[in-house]
Amino acid sequence: MLQRCDKCNAPFSWSEILKSLWWNYKPIHCKKCGSIHRIKISGRLTFVLLTILPMFFVGYFLAPLHNIILTFGGAFFILLIGSFIAPFLVTYREY
Ligand SMILES: [Zn+2]
Repeated sequence: MLQRCDKCNAPFSWSEILKSLWWNYKPIHCKKCGSIHRIKISGRLTFVLLTILPMFFVGYFLAPLHNIILTFGGAFFILLIGSFIAPFLVTYREY
């Protein structure tokens, strides 16, 4: 389910991919063969669609309630869920 190395087929870990996403799409080095993988443009788009966009969406709908904790809590919760799912959906290719 998770992305594998294009060269040696070794799977990348969920946390490795998540770290890459949060470090401004930092390239992933395969632990086994050392080849470098960069995120595809579609992967960046997927990540934004799963995290930033829903976060603003939720923030926008919760803001009129004038409950700062609820608004930020809701937005943060969505961000967490998106981040959890994103590593399963984004794709990388060998560079
Ligand atoms: Zn590899």
